[in-house]
Amino acid sequence: VMASMAHLQEEKLQLQEELLELQEKLTAQENNELSRSLQLQSQVETLKVKLLEQAQEISRLRSELGGMDVEKDLLATENERLRQEMKACKGELRELRRKQQVPCQDCAHLQENTELQEQLSQLQQEAEETRAKLAELDLEVQQKTNRLAEVELRLKDSLAERAEEEERLSRRLRDSQETIASLRSQPQQIKYIIKTVEVESAKAKQALCESQSRNQYLQEQVGMQRQVLKEMEQQLQSSKKTAAQLRAQIMMYEAELERAHGQMLEEMQAMEEEKNRAIEEAFSRAQVEMKAVHENLAGVRTNLLTLQPALRTLTHDYNSLKCQVRDFPLLLQETLQSARAEISQAIEEVNNTNRELLRKYRRELQLRKKCHNELVRLKGNIRVFGRVRPITKEDGEGPEAANAVTFDNDNDAVLYLLHKGKQVSFELDKVFPPKASQEEVFQEVQALVTSCIDGYNVCIFAYGQTGAGKTYTMEGTAANPGINQRALQLLFSEVGSKAADWDYAISVSAAEIYNEALRDLLGKEPQEKLEIKLCPDGSGQLYVPGLTEFRVQSVEDINKVFEFGHINRATECTNLNEHSSRSHALLIVTVRGLDRSTGLRTTGKLNLVDLAGSERVGRSGAEGNRLREAQHINKSLSALGDVIYALRSRQGHVPFRNSKLTYLLQDSLSGDSKTLMMVQVSPAEKNTSETLCSLKFAERVRSVELGPVSRKAELVSWPSQEQLEVTEGSMGDSPGTAAPPGRGHVSPSPGQLSSRVASIRRKLQASG
Ligand code: ADP
Ligand code: MG
Repeated sequence: VMASMAHLQEEKLQLQEELLELQEKLTAQENNELSRSLQLQSQVETLKVKLLEQAQEISRLRSELGGMDVEKDLLATENERLRQEMKACKGELRELRRKQQVPCQDCAHLQENTELQEQLSQLQQEAEETRAKLAELDLEVQQKTNRLAEVELRLKDSLAERAEEEERLSRRLRDSQETIASLRSQPQQIKYIIKTVEVESAKAKQALCESQSRNQYLQEQVGMQRQVLKEMEQQLQSSKKTAAQLRAQIMMYEAELERAHGQMLEEMQAMEEEKNRAIEEAFSRAQVEMKAVHENLAGVRTNLLTLQPALRTLTHDYNSLKCQVRDFPLLLQETLQSARAEISQAIEEVNNTNRELLRKYRRELQLRKKCHNELVRLKGNIRVFGRVRPITKEDGEGPEAANAVTFDNDNDAVLYLLHKGKQVSFELDKVFPPKASQEEVFQEVQALVTSCIDGYNVCIFAYGQTGAGKTYTMEGTAANPGINQRALQLLFSEVGSKAADWDYAISVSAAEIYNEALRDLLGKEPQEKLEIKLCPDGSGQLYVPGLTEFRVQSVEDINKVFEFGHINRATECTNLNEHSSRSHALLIVTVRGLDRSTGLRTTGKLNLVDLAGSERVGRSGAEGNRLREAQHINKSLSALGDVIYALRSRQGHVPFRNSKLTYLLQDSLSGDSKTLMMVQVSPAEKNTSETLCSLKFAERVRSVELGPVSRKAELVSWPSQEQLEVTEGSMGDSPGTAAPPGRGHVSPSPGQLSSRVASIRRKLQASG
């Protein structure tokens, strides 16, 4: 027993060892299984990763495909750009064509041509590049397809590997099951031994029990492992399925890729074709245009050839012009200098001439004045004209209205008056018959009027009995104006003709002397008596303070002035005709001149005087006012006669102050002044005594002649108005005795004959 016990124990130990070994094997197996499962898991993991990778790859491929789309887009835009460039090329070509119509100016076409060629080559290069890019893309697609095949291969490999692994694992599992079965079969023997051993050792029993539980646990473990394996198998199955799905997907993707590739290729082909076509088109167009340009160029060349000689001459001309231009400032300066010198010389000459001319002009002026004075001296400063008015209705009918005045056909200075049966002849400076017009009268007067412009003072008196035509001669009618208006008109025209050198101002005043009182006819208060005063400047000139002076510039102005004067005169009296016949009416025209070239100033005064009626009033036994008027008129007319007499006989003292009229006209009567006495007479038989008186007055004025005569005249005194009356009575009996020794004499014997004839005629007229 001991030996068997020892043997059993030995066996037990052996079994224990075996168990341990088995346990170890089991743990190893378990570890192995675990590691295997871990490995499998990791493999599954890697597969998953690979799958993911593939998915990623697929998505990448897809995105690449998308990229290809982008590239396609890019190519489309490229194409568009090319098209744009083509269009630009076309535009340029058009421009070129347009330019061809314009003659070529230089060889820019060549340059443009080369530029076009460059552009063409650039386009071709770009097309080449695009083609290369296309090839690259093709290559890439190929590579990707290869990679896809590789991946598939790898997937197949991994699937085969997995199958192998599965195979191996199932073999192992079978081995393990066999081992487990063998191990299971072994415990039957051991049970027996154990049963036998149990008896011997509780410990052994316990150990056995433990081993049994251990075994149980191991079996459970194996079951679990199996479960795990099954699960893994399932997993494998699902992963296989997934792989198949993936493969299908890959296939699909491949097909899609293929299709996209084909499409892309087609599109690329189309694009290529289009590009080629466009390039060809552009090229052909460029060629055509080039040809045109060439032709144009040839034309331009021929043009150039023809232009060259012209250019040569132009260049020559230009060079010569350049030389001229270069020399021009110098030449100009020289010319300017010489011109300046010439001009200054000319100016100097002109100045000299001007100075000389001015000197001559001044001398001429002086000479003219001297000549004029001499002429006047020869003619006499005082001239006497006679004017016979026509017979009017107022003269009535019958013998009273008969004509008593006749004329000498050969001498216009002589007139004959038939008075009390005797014909008396009178010689004046000029006699105007009744038919003489205002115009004719004025023609004889105008020289006097114009001398006023030269600075002379002029007096024109109308003397005569009332109704003899004084006012008619001086004022005239509206239709037939007299000396006053004509004189002013003449002054205006004369002044106008001299306006180039002279500035003239013409002003007028109008005054009236009635009963030795001076009144302003243009003033605001015509009734106011004006005084004649000496100028305070010591010039000895007289002036009338308050006498209105109007500046006149036209005939209209004069008419206004005259009208104004008439109105003033008319408002002052009840009977204008009567009043005017008893007062002296004066129109004073002042002409002030300035010679702009010499600065010479002149002032001339033209006094136009319509004297009061010279008829003898006193004899008819007038009284009161009428007498006073008559006395004043007599006095002033005598004073005028005295002054004229004194002046003509060159007496030292001239009694200007004896009347207002002579005092006012002092400076217009003395010195170089000129006086015209217009003696108005009526031809009517009834007026012959007054006519006789007037003509005597006229002749006496005129008789105070130049030279020895005037000196002789100094011896006799000037007759007063009363004396004139007295001599009138003695007329015919002793002619020339009472009167001054003038030419107013009874006509000689031939005259007596003619006077008798006249008397017979008069008688015939009266009777018939
Ligand atoms: P006075 O002024 O000397 O008193 P007027 O000039 O008033 O005289 O003349 C008196 C009349 O005679 C007026 O009707 C006038 O028209 C007329 N008369 C005077 N002279 C002429 C003449 N030369 N021609 C025509 N009529 C005249
Ligand atoms: Mg009158």
